[in-house]
Amino acid sequence: TVRTRVAPSPTGDPHVGTAYIALFNLAFARQHGGEFILRIEDTDQVRSTPESEQAILDSLRWLGIEWSEGPDVGGQYGPYRQSERKDIYVEHVEQLLASGYAFRCYRTAEELDAIRSQLQQDGTNSALKASHLELPAEEVARREAAGAPYVIRMRVPEEGVCVINDMLRGSIEVEWSQVDAQILMKSDGMPTYHLANVVDDHLMAITHVIRGEEWISSAPKHKLLYEYFGWEMPTICHMPLLRNPDKSKLSKRKNPTSIMFYERMGFMPEAVLNYLGRMGWSMPDEREKFSRDEMFSHFDIQRVSLGGPVFDMEKLRWVNSLWLRELDAETFAQRFAAWGLRPERLIPIIPHIQPRVEVFSDVVPLAGHFLAGLTPLTAAQFEHKAYDEERLLNVLQFGLWQLESIRHWEPAEIEAALFGLAKQMDIKIRDFLFPFFIAIAGTSATISVLDSMVILGPDMSRARVRHALG
Ligand code: ATP
Ligand code: GLU
Repeated sequence: TVRTRVAPSPTGDPHVGTAYIALFNLAFARQHGGEFILRIEDTDQVRSTPESEQAILDSLRWLGIEWSEGPDVGGQYGPYRQSERKDIYVEHVEQLLASGYAFRCYRTAEELDAIRSQLQQDGTNSALKASHLELPAEEVARREAAGAPYVIRMRVPEEGVCVINDMLRGSIEVEWSQVDAQILMKSDGMPTYHLANVVDDHLMAITHVIRGEEWISSAPKHKLLYEYFGWEMPTICHMPLLRNPDKSKLSKRKNPTSIMFYERMGFMPEAVLNYLGRMGWSMPDEREKFSRDEMFSHFDIQRVSLGGPVFDMEKLRWVNSLWLRELDAETFAQRFAAWGLRPERLIPIIPHIQPRVEVFSDVVPLAGHFLAGLTPLTAAQFEHKAYDEERLLNVLQFGLWQLESIRHWEPAEIEAALFGLAKQMDIKIRDFLFPFFIAIAGTSATISVLDSMVILGPDMSRARVRHALG
């Protein structure tokens, strides 16, 4: 039976690209009466967090994407979190070492740099190979005895052509000379993506790997690993990446990429899923509005077109409007309340507003911005004695860059980033924060703008500052 998977890394906010790939894997599985599973690829221990994992699961569920096996629901091929499968990877990498398909590499960072620049000087245009890396046996023994750190790398042919077959792209040829002796296990004993991904896809009986085109260059390494293990390789399919309206790769520097942003903007999950289904794909009759199940019953992966699909919020708003218009008043009211007035949404706001209100009707002017999206702003709102236009734009632009560089969206980090900038620009905190109040809340007569940003989340906060600049 067909088994597909989505394999997100829990290293940030749940990406719309993850939902898009998940949707197509689910659609393919449904079309074939197969199973769709979710695996968490958290081998990057520094960047992975449990909060990110939870947010990914919640966001995918919110969209109506369901998996039959995963870290939260279990299943017969578990565990479904790579950090819980270390022994499995060790066992498999040892097989490769024993059969000579992999080797321990004791090269230091300096040596690697020297080898790389030598390769460049030679003009051989070759990737890094075992032949460049391997040390004489005595030297290996010496470093081993000294307890030097090592990684485990795979051997890769020096020449010839690797042919991979892609469901959408047909055969793709890659020169082996361009493929590095990939690291399979890092010096800390954690597997890399390549090893863990191949081992897990095999052990989890995945038949079709549908993933983003950014992984095409990994396919030769994966193909080789399947051969080394003596396993059949799943069928692979690389989907076109989502793009910004300017055709560059969709990225959070230009557009909100977090599913949570679209939830907070008040998009209906049905509409977001509908729109993701329109990314490179269309219904046979080209209709714009369709439900998840309608998509599944007409799904055909061969209808995916490779031109980069543009993820455009204006278009998404239009699709959403088609869904909203169809709701009867009662359902509209219920869905609106469930979106904006449900306790989980309000509770984080209450401690900030409770001390400042006397009656419930005072809540709206203080907290209305938590329900707003990107509302129109005027130059007059930004007028302030500390600013001329240029300085104002500078503060917002530099502030936006600071906000974009924050890894963990936590009060201390946001404060450090913005206050650091205020100091650098030699502006009093109060004056410095004023334009952010306007961008984020439309007024300075509200709760702390830092608290607002924490509650609104990174994508909505950045989008509002960007909107203020636009
Ligand atoms: P950004 O460019 O905004 O920093 P990113 O590359 O950091 O985004 P990741 O966190 O690396 O995003 O990716 C999260 C998931 O989203 C990955 O599974 C990745 O394949 C997917 N993804 C990222 N960008 C796109 C895209 N443009 N189209 C489809 N999927 C994407
Ligand atoms: N963990 C990878 C990602 O974040 C999975 C890629 C794949 O599907 O092989 O996209």
